[in-house]
Amino acid sequence: MSGERVLIGLGANLGRPAEQVERAFAALAALPGMELTERSSIWRTAPIGGPAGQSDYANAVAVGTFARGAEALLSACQGIEAALGRDRREEQHHGPRAIDLDLLEFGAVESAGPRLKLPHPLLEERAFVLRPLVEVRPDWRLPSGRCPEEALALLEPERVELWGAGVAERPEIEVLETPAGAAAWCAGARGAGARIGLVPTMGALHEGHLTLVQRAAEENDVVVASVFVNPLQFDERKDLDAYPRDLARDAELLSGAGCGMVFTGTLEGFFPEAPMPEAIAMEDPGSAAQGLEGEFRTGHFEGVATICRRLFELVRPAAAYFGEKDFQQTRVVRDLAERLGFPGIVVVPTSRDDDGLARSSRNARLDGPSRARALGLPRALFAARAAWVAGERGRVPLECVLSAELEGLEVEYAAVRDPRRLAETPGRLDQAQALIAARVGGVRLIDNLRLDAN
Ligand code: AMP
Repeated sequence: MSGERVLIGLGANLGRPAEQVERAFAALAALPGMELTERSSIWRTAPIGGPAGQSDYANAVAVGTFARGAEALLSACQGIEAALGRDRREEQHHGPRAIDLDLLEFGAVESAGPRLKLPHPLLEERAFVLRPLVEVRPDWRLPSGRCPEEALALLEPERVELWGAGVAERPEIEVLETPAGAAAWCAGARGAGARIGLVPTMGALHEGHLTLVQRAAEENDVVVASVFVNPLQFDERKDLDAYPRDLARDAELLSGAGCGMVFTGTLEGFFPEAPMPEAIAMEDPGSAAQGLEGEFRTGHFEGVATICRRLFELVRPAAAYFGEKDFQQTRVVRDLAERLGFPGIVVVPTSRDDDGLARSSRNARLDGPSRARALGLPRALFAARAAWVAGERGRVPLECVLSAELEGLEVEYAAVRDPRRLAETPGRLDQAQALIAARVGGVRLIDNLRLDAN
C-alpha cells in the first residue's frame, strides 16, 4: 500500500497508561489506509506543565505510511482518542490525559488547514518523542535536518526511561513524608479542580483497606491515603510495637487501587510544636467516644480524633472514607467532621475473608488455632442477626446470644446497641448494632454487625 510517511506520538497518564498506549497502537494499525512499519517501546516520562500531582506519562511513537490524507488521519486519531476515554471538554491545559495521539509529521505536508500544523511545531523540543524515535528510527531526518539523537542532545536532560524499568522500586504513586509536602501536593490537586477523597490508614494494608481506596477512586478525581501508625491512639505500647509495617508493599497496593499520593507522617512531623505525645493538645472526641472501645482503650478516640483533624486540615478532602469494621470510630469521625464543617464521611461495609472473619491487619498475628477460635466473633454476630430476624428485640437476650458463641475467648465486650445512640443501653431496640471486642491468642480483635439489615 502506498501513502505518505507518517510519524505519530502517543501519550497517556491516566488509568493504566501503558495499556492505553498499547490499545492506541492496535487501533492505529487497524485504520484503513494505515501501514505501521515501526513502533517504539513505551517510555516513562515526567509530565510537562499542568497541575501538580500528575502521574508520569507513558509515551511512544509510531511510524508508518497512510494513504488517505492528513485531515483524515487527524480525524481518525481523534476518533481513537474518544474511543479510549479522552474527553476534551473536561480537560485542562497540560492536564492528565487518558490518551493523546499527536500527528507529528505527514510526508512533506506543511499545513493541513486550521486544525493541524505540520510538522508539529514542538516536535524537536520534546524528549518524550525524540527518545522513542532514536530507538526505532535513528536515521530519521527531522525538519531541521537533524537526526533525533542530535536534536535530543540540544535539550535540557529530562527523565525518560523505559516504562518497565524500576517500576517495582517506584510505584506510580507519590510517597510524601512531610506534612508541608503533602499539603502542597493536595493544594495543587485542589487548585487544578480535583475533588480529593482521603483514606486514613495505619498501613499493613489488606483487601478491606483497598475497598475504601476503590470506593474513593470511584467518587473522586484524586485519592490520597495516609499510612501512619498513630502512637496517640494506642493505649498499649506492646500493641504499637507489634503493629505490622511494610510501606513499600502498602504503596504498591495503594497505587494499584488508584491512589495518587500516600502521606506517611511521623508524630514529630505532625506536631513540630510538641513532639512529645504528652504535650500534644488532644481533640475532644465527643460523646460518641463513650463506652465500648472508649471504655476499654483509654485515650484511643482522643488519639483518633486528634490525628484525623490534622489529616483533614492538611489534605482538605471533599470526602474521607472509613470502614464500618471500626463502627464506633465512624461515629467519632462523623461528629468531628460535623464540628469542622468538612469533609463528608463515607462509611464502607466491612470486608470479610471467606470464612467470615473481618479482615484486619492484626489477623496476620493469629496462629492457626487462634484464627479458628477468632471465627467465634463473626459466628456470634450472625447468630445475633438470626435471633433478630426470628423476632428477638430485647437487648439482653440478644447479648446472651453473642456471649454463647464467644465462650472460651477473652471477651472485653459483647454488646447490642442502637446504632444512633451507642452510649445508651435500652431494654428493647428497633434498630440494632452488635459489637464485640475480644482477645484471641494475645491479639485484640473487634467486629460488629447491623442486625436489622442485610
Ligand atoms: P486501620 O489501618 O486499621 O486504621 O484501618 C484504616 C481504615 O480501614 C479504617 O477506616 C478501617 O475501618 C478500615 N478497615 C479496616 N479493616 C477493614 C475491613 N475489613 N473492611 C472495611 N474497612 C476496613
